[in-house]
Amino acid sequence: MNNNFFEVKNVDFKAGGKTKVSNVSFAIEKEGDIICLLGPSGIGKTTILRTIAGLEKINNGSIALKGKILSSEKENIEPEHRNISLAFQENSLFPHYTVKKNILLGADRNKDKKNHQVSFQEIVKLLDISFILNKYPHEISAGEAQRASLARSLISQPDLLLLDEPLSNVDQSFKEEIQEKLKKILKSSKITTIIVTHDSYEAFYLGSKCGIILNQELKQFDDPYNVYHLPNSVEVVNFLNRGTLIPAEVTSPKSLENKDLGTITGNFIKQFPIGSKVKLLVQPEDLHHDDKSNLKFEVIDRKFRGTNFIYTLKTPNNMLIPVFVHSHHIHQHEVDEKFGIKRPIHIDHIVCF
Ligand code: ADP
Ligand code: MG
Repeated sequence: MNNNFFEVKNVDFKAGGKTKVSNVSFAIEKEGDIICLLGPSGIGKTTILRTIAGLEKINNGSIALKGKILSSEKENIEPEHRNISLAFQENSLFPHYTVKKNILLGADRNKDKKNHQVSFQEIVKLLDISFILNKYPHEISAGEAQRASLARSLISQPDLLLLDEPLSNVDQSFKEEIQEKLKKILKSSKITTIIVTHDSYEAFYLGSKCGIILNQELKQFDDPYNVYHLPNSVEVVNFLNRGTLIPAEVTSPKSLENKDLGTITGNFIKQFPIGSKVKLLVQPEDLHHDDKSNLKFEVIDRKFRGTNFIYTLKTPNNMLIPVFVHSHHIHQHEVDEKFGIKRPIHIDHIVCF
């Protein structure tokens, strides 16, 4: 038996009798860690949380918290005896109670608990919901309702908190601030949490590990850095929408050749025999702009992202390559103009499939 705080081992997650995500294994090592699960809509993320909370049963594998089996083929601890709190994606506030009463229901569940308490006042302040405390759920916006249910879950101080897209209705302008506050409160109160989200940047910021669910599988469960820079499959690359895969031939243990880009040097994450034909991942940060370079491609699109632009370049062989440029770059390149790429091309981590 190992010492993981929470562990899912070889579980098929089912909804309506059908397997949605199969043979899933992952762990949360320490109490207080936050992990995130990412995946497209309809893939089974909510199903996973419902199963961990005990609302769906499993027929194989096991789910264990603090060394105790919660679910397996033989065992199934009732949801109310798991000390797991699930904040649903949709508004789950009781309509006949005020926001304040709704939140205090969470506190009731937590009467005779434990060490690191968070107070009602702290949470209200943190989530900036003092002005809705005396309102009823139908009198507040979807984003406010999400913050109120988040408050209720936080105050219940569970052993494991499950948040299902907790910020999906929160205004973009307010989101980063709430993310920061949420992280702070989860860390300071040491609440172990699984957060389901659509938003990869949210997952990278909040989670010490991220799980990517695609095609009925947990494809990668890894540090955010690794998920982003060292994606383990073409599916993960496509899901994160990171750059593009271009054909290349391995020419030495530290180089490849592409028809349009020429020689590319760097460190392979995984070695391939010389002569292998591979797909090389080119991410927007991998290539650098240089007006003086004679390697020039046509600009076909330019996206302004505030601190940076992402140019899409078209090569003679019709590859579309994204290139990141700081937006204070002194002159901008219009669509149909030529755009220079700095040589020699060196990519720190070479990711190939
Ligand atoms: P996600 O949260 O990733 O969007 P869900 O876990 O809600 O996905 O659902 C996964 C799939 O299972 C969806 O296709 C959904 O329609 C289906 N599903 C969810 N719950 C049930 C159920 N109780 N009965 C039948 N199908 C369900
Ligand atoms: Mg869902």
